[in-house]
Amino acid sequence: MTAVVVLGSINMDLTTYVARAPRRGETVTGHELRTLPGGKGANQAVAAARAGASEVAMIGAVGTDAYGPALLAELAHNGVDTDLMRTVEGPSGTAHIVVDAQGSNAIVVIPGANGTLTHLPPGDEALIATADTLLLQLEIPMSGVLAAAKAAHRHTVRTVLTPSPARELPAELLAVTDLLVLNEREATALTGQENHRTALAALLEKVPEAVLTLGAEGCLYASREHEPLHVPAPKVETVDTTGAGDTFVGALAVALGEGRTMPQALSWAVCAAALAVTKPGAIAAMPFRSEIEDGDL
Ligand code: ATP
Repeated sequence: MTAVVVLGSINMDLTTYVARAPRRGETVTGHELRTLPGGKGANQAVAAARAGASEVAMIGAVGTDAYGPALLAELAHNGVDTDLMRTVEGPSGTAHIVVDAQGSNAIVVIPGANGTLTHLPPGDEALIATADTLLLQLEIPMSGVLAAAKAAHRHTVRTVLTPSPARELPAELLAVTDLLVLNEREATALTGQENHRTALAALLEKVPEAVLTLGAEGCLYASREHEPLHVPAPKVETVDTTGAGDTFVGALAVALGEGRTMPQALSWAVCAAALAVTKPGAIAAMPFRSEIEDGDL
């Protein structure tokens, strides 16, 4: 059994569906609005909880608007401990997504309460100290990410960083990161390399282990000790890949915390993520442990 702590973002995703996105100065009429919880922090926390972590706690913030209680309720409903979630004056984080008839999207994110996570209160360090794994992403201020990663390092808690949205990573953050999990776009943005193995080699100069996720191709893992290992994804009917990366990370954290080897944990993670792409939505599509175990993939 494994305990996972997530420090990160939680948003209300407001997704509108239109035939064609509006041009500058234009108004178009959409045909649907979906209001669903999201944010990479919340996604990874729910993914880990559903994959069967014994305990998952999220450190984050919501606002005093109507979305705040709804976001906290979504976490709690999925078995995520919300004791260290803060409610701060002002709006919750929101993502404003326009999806056109081709399925292309344009997104505006307003950080709202997520932007207040600039440091780590002492009580939060005490919680991190009890975890097997700390999951971090970059949708909150870098100073908050860095403080949490340093706290985890002090307590020899495994730190897994998803560098999304991609931005330059301070050397002091990389120095306390155990495992990077990133997609091809992020790997190219961080290393300037298009070639997977060259990008991984560049990343291993900075962190001991890295996993490059490759969509339907699965993932490529590399460490300073081992040759790169390609783990193929099960072939599935793809409905919606939103949240696949976060499902992968949550399931990987659970498997590693249970003492599985890295190849075993990666196989488990690609199964979980494959199940997630067979259903619409992010959190709504995340598989439960029984589904991953029974998954005929
Ligand atoms: P997203 O932003 O859609 O959440 P991502 O861009 O962060 O995802 P991807 O590399 O696209 O990351 O996907 C993460 C993992 O999800 C992959 O490593 C793979 O295991 C799984 N996956 C994604 N797409 C598919 C697919 N079409 N079929 C099977 N598995 C998939």
